[in-house]
Amino acid sequence: MGLDLPSLFLVTAVILAVSTLILIAHWIANRSFAGLGRMAVGMALATVGLLLLLPGGNDLSLYVLVGDFLILMAHLWFWLGIADFWKERNRQLTYLAGTTLLVAVGMLGYNLVTGGTATERATVFSLFLALLSFGAALTIAKALGGRVGLYKGIIKRKTIGGSTVAAVFFGHGLFAFYRGISLALYGDVASDETALFAFTQLEEMVFAVALAVTLIVSTAERVQADLKIQAMMDPLTQALNRRAFMTVLKTVLARSRRLSEPVSLVMMDIDKFKQINLRHGHLVGDDILCQFSEGVMEGRRAQDVFCRFGGEEFVLLLPGTDEQGAELVAKRVRDAVTGYPFKHGNKEISLTVSFGVTTARGDDLLPDSILDAAYKPLREAQKAGQNQIKVS
Ligand code: GH3
Ligand code: MG
Ligand code: MG
Repeated sequence: MGLDLPSLFLVTAVILAVSTLILIAHWIANRSFAGLGRMAVGMALATVGLLLLLPGGNDLSLYVLVGDFLILMAHLWFWLGIADFWKERNRQLTYLAGTTLLVAVGMLGYNLVTGGTATERATVFSLFLALLSFGAALTIAKALGGRVGLYKGIIKRKTIGGSTVAAVFFGHGLFAFYRGISLALYGDVASDETALFAFTQLEEMVFAVALAVTLIVSTAERVQADLKIQAMMDPLTQALNRRAFMTVLKTVLARSRRLSEPVSLVMMDIDKFKQINLRHGHLVGDDILCQFSEGVMEGRRAQDVFCRFGGEEFVLLLPGTDEQGAELVAKRVRDAVTGYPFKHGNKEISLTVSFGVTTARGDDLLPDSILDAAYKPLREAQKAGQNQIKVS
């Protein structure tokens, strides 16, 4: 069987079209995730671009220029789509990616107008394709290396789907780079060129299918991870919920026992919260709970764990913190709460909080005993007139 480039082109176009349909369906089914639509559009652009290259073959024409442009544009769309999906999109990235495309199109247009060779055109096209693909790969790599997850520094989440998408783009870029360099060095060796073009078609097929599959896997992973995070969070305050906290508490205590570190626990109960609800309404009460949580979460260190234990009770777990440190933290929260009235619309609402503080070491580092040890001084603080800190 002879190598029939036009048929191979057509097969590639069909596979790209099917990948486009898969990505469009995937986007429709997962509309809440940013970037998937852009990537589906990218695949559609690549398909049309490839079809335009078909009649032009290897000659230089406006067809070929538009075809090249659409394929490069497709890669810009992949890059931006990926940045959206992994929440890495910012203005610099958009400018960088857009400028890369503009320079590529400028050089290709210049080549066409000045009657440059087809090999020169293909070289420029391939090298810029490589740049755009590497850009996409780097963007995912950055997103995966970044601190992702519910609590910064506590839960790091790495995804196989994401890493594979990065690998797909890296491989795609590497091939485009190899193609560009080969064309530049041996561009006029006709037989090599034919083999290279055939390889290019095969690589495009693999790329299109691999991208569709890995994006579907990445989305599934994202859905799973989001559900997991939701299950761990208190929906109102975005603090850790009690169930998730108990898991984290066990881990932290076991680790601290191994490291012979103290662990402190600050238990907080907002004073007379029922009255705030009665006086201002439940929505205001909800807002106060959110503002309080936000304040504590902003002020804590990365390793501190904040949890809504229930109703208007909160817990702050302080690994590696001794008695003095824990009391200081509690004082800081108390001063912040009493120092500024909470605001809801025009209303100013003053709040006080009672605190129970405990520090455990060695064999006392057990979940039940440390919670108990913080609960007792909290009750004492409430009985003693509230708005105070008691240490066990
Ligand atoms: P004390 O000063 O003794 O702590 O009394 P308190 O009213 O602060 O605490 P108590 O435990 O008697 O009641 C807790 C109140 O917190 C009752 C409930 O209406 C309110 N509450 C619990 N969860 C929520 C919530 O999610 N939103 C709002 N708005 N209120 C809540
Ligand atoms: Mg209470
Ligand atoms: Mg209370």
